Amino acid sequence: MANNWPEWLPIRSELSELTPYGAPQMPDLVALNTNENPFELPKEVVDEILAELPKVLSNLNRYPDRDAILLREKLAGYINSQSGTSFNSENIWAANGSNEILQTLMLACGGRGALGFVPSYSVHPLIAKVTGVNWNAASRASDFTLDISLAINEIHKIKPGLTFITTPNNPTGTILKLGEIAELAKAASEVNGLLVVDEAYAEFSTQSSAVTLISKYPNLVVVRTMSKAFAFAGARVGYLIGDLKVVAACLVARLPYHLSSLTQASAQVALSKADLLQAEVKLLISERERVCAELIGYGFNVVPSQANFMMFSRFTGSAGKVWQDLVDHGILIRDIGIPGYLRVTIGTPKENDQFLAAIASHKP
Ligand SMILES: *Cc1c(COP(=O)(O)O)cnc(C)c1O
Repeated sequence: MANNWPEWLPIRSELSELTPYGAPQMPDLVALNTNENPFELPKEVVDEILAELPKVLSNLNRYPDRDAILLREKLAGYINSQSGTSFNSENIWAANGSNEILQTLMLACGGRGALGFVPSYSVHPLIAKVTGVNWNAASRASDFTLDISLAINEIHKIKPGLTFITTPNNPTGTILKLGEIAELAKAASEVNGLLVVDEAYAEFSTQSSAVTLISKYPNLVVVRTMSKAFAFAGARVGYLIGDLKVVAACLVARLPYHLSSLTQASAQVALSKADLLQAEVKLLISERERVCAELIGYGFNVVPSQANFMMFSRFTGSAGKVWQDLVDHGILIRDIGIPGYLRVTIGTPKENDQFLAAIASHKP
């Protein structure tokens, strides 16, 4: 579709070369390609959301709470319980998935451009393009780690309004240490920029959350989501934790009434069941360790991951060929466009067994 726009359509020139974001959605396959939580929402959570709905439905003639205060209070409580912090609702902003949070940050603070370190989450540069934010890509090392002194040099050189890091990183699964994040936040503060820490997979990691650094570095913003750990991807709820002034800037840029009352109410229920959902996260972590050990046993190289997915290499044949062969065997993983590597999301124990059986024929 790109490059084929009719003349009567005044699409912005910087968008004319882009294609819509999209991982394949193939409903009949075992979906291990988009880092979703493979477990259905527990019945207990479903039942409680259903019990909430009548109240919400009869009020659909009214706009939702524009500022989502009750939801933001619950999110603050969840973060405080996880990280021993003392945030309140004014330190939180919530939106339709963390992708909307990222978009709001770009709209609010992207005027001086943005910087990221690739390979990382491909949606960061995509949102930058769409919101007219100048995107600068710097590289990670060949083992996908980030050289902090090089990164600090880039920040000083480019002076971006927004510097993005993802930890655990997608697609590599690698993490940054808190001390390293603090150094990057300091460098960003020296150029009056925000450091945006995308922690979409924080719950799967042993590393403490960067939210513990915000009181020292008010220019540090942590972006989280309910899509992965909370098994809530379909509901679309993401949020940020940051200084009051960061949240205030997001309020200026957000669309009025952007988060539906249905979403706000169901997310509050899911948050009240955080303990139940965290038990599934534990199981996924132990499955990650199992799949990792099996892949290494087969002779593959596995990039150490603290997320609910991992990258592996040393299979026989190209990534594209192996990907297609797995599709032919009913299993959908991700070809992330890094030559020689594929990424697999951790599924249910049964799905992981199916993947391991299928990938065995591509042992080095
Ligand atoms: C999945 C993912 C997101 C987006 O999550 P939503 O909240 O579903 O929009 C954000 N950042 C990273 C790194 C992700 O992998």
